[in-house]
Amino acid sequence: MTFDTLGLRPESLRAIADQGYTDPTPVQAQAIPAILRGRDLLAGAQTGTGKTAAFVLPMIETLHATRGPGPIKLRALVVVPTRELALQVEQSIRTYGAHRPVRSTTIFGGMRMDRQVRALRAGVEVVVATPGRLLDHVRQRTIDLRRVEILVLDEADRMLDMGFIHDIKRILQQLPAERQSLLFSATFNPRIRRLAEDLLREPLSIDAAPRNAAAAPVRQVIHPVDRSRKRHLLTHMLRGREIEQALVFTRTKRGANRLAEQLGKDGIRAAAIHGNKSQSQRVRALTAFKKGHSQVLVATDIAARGLDIESLPHVVNFELPNVPEDYVHRIGRSGRAGEAGTAISLVAVEEQDLM
Ligand code: AMP
Repeated sequence: MTFDTLGLRPESLRAIADQGYTDPTPVQAQAIPAILRGRDLLAGAQTGTGKTAAFVLPMIETLHATRGPGPIKLRALVVVPTRELALQVEQSIRTYGAHRPVRSTTIFGGMRMDRQVRALRAGVEVVVATPGRLLDHVRQRTIDLRRVEILVLDEADRMLDMGFIHDIKRILQQLPAERQSLLFSATFNPRIRRLAEDLLREPLSIDAAPRNAAAAPVRQVIHPVDRSRKRHLLTHMLRGREIEQALVFTRTKRGANRLAEQLGKDGIRAAAIHGNKSQSQRVRALTAFKKGHSQVLVATDIAARGLDIESLPHVVNFELPNVPEDYVHRIGRSGRAGEAGTAISLVAVEEQDLM
């Protein structure tokens, strides 16, 4: 299957070709025509499936096709769990809209309100936002959601895990009933289903990755090891180039910092990325990692959400997560867009139950 059969315009096809994509991913092949027809969507798709392009491309086209005269107004809202994901979605809007731009901005915590207010006042058609800060703007009446025609909830499961359900409900109350809604979630549990029922009207359901299952192709390896020896083993694998570069998960922010420090003492370039770091620190760490300046990025589950790192060969579970969904998210970071990856779990006896 090629992109030309999905109903996209030449400008979009050019933007896709600029990226070097030849074939749509399964979620793109299913979602794009349906979104262009105006349908609501319930999509099971995790990071790495090409889900961002699946909603950004048709969203841009719909906005152009239905744009009326008069001043620019906010017509599409993308709600995401983290700042990193917000920045990535915004980048995708620029990338895929390269030949047919729409005006967009991001809204998330940790950045100055007044700058965001200025961007909103200047006029945007698309806002990509995290729930908390978006509500701050709603309360201050610096954003008007009453004309939103397209709503996207991206990584909805993670937003619920992070406790954003009430914020999301409040946001939904601001939106007009007449709209197109798209819900993306890596996993499905009863809470997601309930949200989907409240939100969506006769949605098309598509499933890019098998539910609650790891997306192929990720090789999953387990190393049983004493807790106190984990760091040595990791250093050994990194030094021996058994692992070239890895995203390493810890359970806590403190653990992430400590591990990055210890690896540094072992002579391995490592940075930690988690919720306590400032936005600029996170961006710097991520950039250094993407450019290959650092060998290891240590992350907590929440911080790692939505990180866009292309073709990541290795994910290491330095500690196992508490819930299976997090494991699926973590290892989904390797083997992206069809490339093979390996997920290595360092499992201490104390973690047998989690395993
Ligand atoms: P996402 O699931 O949206 O985070 O996308 C995962 C990665 O796949 C991103 O780095 C995209 O640039 C890439 N990608 C998206 N669509 C395609 C495609 N049709 N062919 C190849 N790569 C793609």
